[in-house]
Amino acid sequence: MQYQSTRSKEVRVPSAFAIKTGLAADGGLYVPEQIPRLALEEIASLAPLNYNERAINILTRFLTDFTPEEVKLCVDRAYTKEKFESVEIAPLYKLESDVYYLELWHGPTCAFKDMALQILPHLLLRSIEKTGESKEVVILVATSGDTGKAALEGFRDVEGTRIIVFYPADGVSDVQKRQMVTQEGNNVDVAAVRGNFDDAQNGVKQIFSDKEYAEILARNNFMLSSANSINWGRLVPQIVYYFSSYASLLKNNEIRLGDPVNFVVPTGNFGNILAAYYAKEMGLPIHKLICASNENNVLTDFINTGIYDKNREFKTTASPSMDILISSNLERFLYHATGCDGARIAQWMQELKETGRYEVPELTKARIKEIFWGGFCDDAETFANICEVNRQYGYVMDTHTAVAKGVYEKYRKETGDATKTVIVSTASPFKFCDSVLTAICGEDSVKGKDPFDLLDELAKTADLLIPDSLAGLREKPVIFTTACEKNEMYDVVSHMLNLA
Ligand SMILES: *Cc1c(COP(=O)(O)O)cnc(C)c1O
Repeated sequence: MQYQSTRSKEVRVPSAFAIKTGLAADGGLYVPEQIPRLALEEIASLAPLNYNERAINILTRFLTDFTPEEVKLCVDRAYTKEKFESVEIAPLYKLESDVYYLELWHGPTCAFKDMALQILPHLLLRSIEKTGESKEVVILVATSGDTGKAALEGFRDVEGTRIIVFYPADGVSDVQKRQMVTQEGNNVDVAAVRGNFDDAQNGVKQIFSDKEYAEILARNNFMLSSANSINWGRLVPQIVYYFSSYASLLKNNEIRLGDPVNFVVPTGNFGNILAAYYAKEMGLPIHKLICASNENNVLTDFINTGIYDKNREFKTTASPSMDILISSNLERFLYHATGCDGARIAQWMQELKETGRYEVPELTKARIKEIFWGGFCDDAETFANICEVNRQYGYVMDTHTAVAKGVYEKYRKETGDATKTVIVSTASPFKFCDSVLTAICGEDSVKGKDPFDLLDELAKTADLLIPDSLAGLREKPVIFTTACEKNEMYDVVSHMLNLA
């Protein structure tokens, strides 16, 4: 299978090249030339398999320039019992009749980014070998919190790679910061940038686009690469858990082969829900994909009106990983929905850049509405959902998952659709202790408290065990204390790589 760019017809590359380079040279995103289809019998055949076997089945259909053995090696290194708490990897819980929670946060950093970032380093390494590259890969990441830690954990001690993460000195939570500055591994580096997330992001982008610096790196046998969410190597592993959850429902006799299900996905960059769209196009019986946003509800409006308009106030919410006004992966969906009209996509993306807005035609609007339903919840609704679900079922969910649950309730009320539904749960409640405790016990329960004491408090309140990776944080030695100005980011990179 070959991959094309969303913005022109000329590009045609194998998956290894798409994964190695991340972004196409014309600025577009890589998409598969055809979307493979599974017959219902093939979907049924996934039911008796474990997560890794299901992953191999799905991934080999897209990574046709990899041998099945190579795919298996990548999968088995990524999804282990040690890293994901159990062999289930992505467990599915039935809470009330016809509603299931797919927990994607049992990986090392307690958020769903691990599902992709644990396997990406291995896919990237194979991709680099396959494309005849002999240089050492240097991954540069600017993070607003979750991605940095997940990338560090994914790339730590992976031979042939180095990773450098920049985080905004004042832009991440205490727990997120502690997760990063205590990172172990012989190929990792972490630095704070004095500034906000945009400063860190711009600095990384500048280094990426600096041809002179790339030459200096090349002379020293290094090449830069990125682990951000537009890389195909991050998207394709996410398709797996949609098939896997359907297979688990079949195995547990919750559905019969061919029965449709809905998925509700808490959405920011549109990566996770796009993976669900690919699963649907591949033949997975999906009725509706419910796109759940917080108050940064640019996608809700887009699904309802066909107008994408980011000219609005940016809101800081209790579900920060969804505080996004430009959902990059939407471009991939639009490419498929317009019958692969790269010229038109290029034009919309240009309009977005220049005016912050574009509108799709009626035909595309209809196609969007056929597949998606969009809604949003504000923080007050989100907190009320956490509280109510805990009261009713004793199940504690994080703020992102609670947004999904709230939007599902609205969907059900408005449509009356009783199709069995999977709510995608994207983070451990311990990752957002402060908000979760506020929701359940009130504001006074968290005021003025040490963030690490809140972990204990939530464990007591929810009668849950603190995930190992968070429990040990308080005692872990701080390894990285570097803080730099935005114009010193080059120096940090050069220093880590021992460049003269
Ligand atoms: C990144 C993230 C999301 C949003 O996922 P997208 O793929 O960007 O739509 C939702 N929840 C959590 C906890 C996340 O870390």
